[in-house]
Amino acid sequence: MQWTDVLASRNSRMKASEIRELLKLLDQPDIISFAGGIPDPALFPAQDFAAAFQQAMAPENASVALQYSVSEGYRPLREWLVGQMRAIGVECGVENIFITSGSQQALDYLGKLLLSPGDTALVTWPTYLGALGAFNAYEPRYDRLDPYANTDPAAVRAEAAQAGGAVKFAYLSADFANPTGETLPLDGRLALLDRAEALNIPVIEDGAYQSLRFAGRPIPPILALDIERCGDIEKTRTIYCGSFSKTLAPGLRVGWVCAATEVVGRLVLMKQAADLHSPTLSQMATDTVARRVFDDHVARIRQVYDHRRRRMLAALEREMPSGVTFTRPEGGMFIWLTLPEGMDGAELLARAVSGHRVAFVPGGAFFADGSNPNTIRLSYSCASDEQIDEGIARIGRLLRG
Ligand code: PMP
Repeated sequence: MQWTDVLASRNSRMKASEIRELLKLLDQPDIISFAGGIPDPALFPAQDFAAAFQQAMAPENASVALQYSVSEGYRPLREWLVGQMRAIGVECGVENIFITSGSQQALDYLGKLLLSPGDTALVTWPTYLGALGAFNAYEPRYDRLDPYANTDPAAVRAEAAQAGGAVKFAYLSADFANPTGETLPLDGRLALLDRAEALNIPVIEDGAYQSLRFAGRPIPPILALDIERCGDIEKTRTIYCGSFSKTLAPGLRVGWVCAATEVVGRLVLMKQAADLHSPTLSQMATDTVARRVFDDHVARIRQVYDHRRRRMLAALEREMPSGVTFTRPEGGMFIWLTLPEGMDGAELLARAVSGHRVAFVPGGAFFADGSNPNTIRLSYSCASDEQIDEGIARIGRLLRG
């Protein structure tokens, strides 16, 4: 069978990344890796989940936990999330919450919902790689999302039309973005809403790291600002994607969307076509654990990640040669380095692994056009003090060499 003869055109955009392949080789014990971007497994609330799963298997609960369920998601969890969203300034009801299998599924569904081949997606430059991966299947063209840009919206639309489609949405992580760790300030959020209004497009707000603020003052989510403007979530254009992956555990595969009911209704149809509903057992256990320990647990992991962030920033201050700049995130899991022009993160990674036994993610892959090869992403989420000090010293030697 010649599989390439029968593949749909979207497959040409769905490639295994060379970097992912390279990063698979990093399990060797002497390599210090800042390449992951995953939560520290030592912080998982495993005991709480053990109790919650046991509770879900009690005879009175198992008939629900193991049965088919509704596509919108497990109602008690949706109700708990209404409280969480309200706590960050988003006035919504249970009808505005839709449970997904991780926020990654929300990105896939939103691509499916909004993109026809040739349409334009506005994305930050750089963007979360997984979002580009999710959208790629729907064959869009990408254009740079700059909240502060004052390009004429008509010109942006004309360019999209010339490329064979229309501008369909703006996607961004407003808080502690993957890969830069940066946060969009309030004026940027308001400017972005203005721009989205001028272009008449939705805003997809990726809140995957929203709960992980360690420093500075919280900024209202774009959805909250949108509601403030419109007076009612039903009139908003912002689609907020949340996740338990960075706070409780990614293996649960539980995320959510908070948006106008019309959006939720469309997503329900997507889910019915794709997987009927997110796993009931995961949702029930998440609901139990979230109600019992969420705030205390998140407070604790914030402390741990904050310590690692500070340690890595201090090591970078010490070790980076002149010409290297880096972000100073107020939360999340990442620090983003910009190296002198002409350096290539991918080429450096190969040398870092073979000669210095240290790893990171080259930044070029996070740009929809592969530009800015002189960037790298570091994650501090799973690193010990010793690994941070030694690993950053090794990167310093690599860059000076
Ligand atoms: N958005 C961002 C910005 C992420 O970094 C990730 C995970 N790396 C996701 C979404 C997807 O997370 P999940 O599907 O586990 O909720």
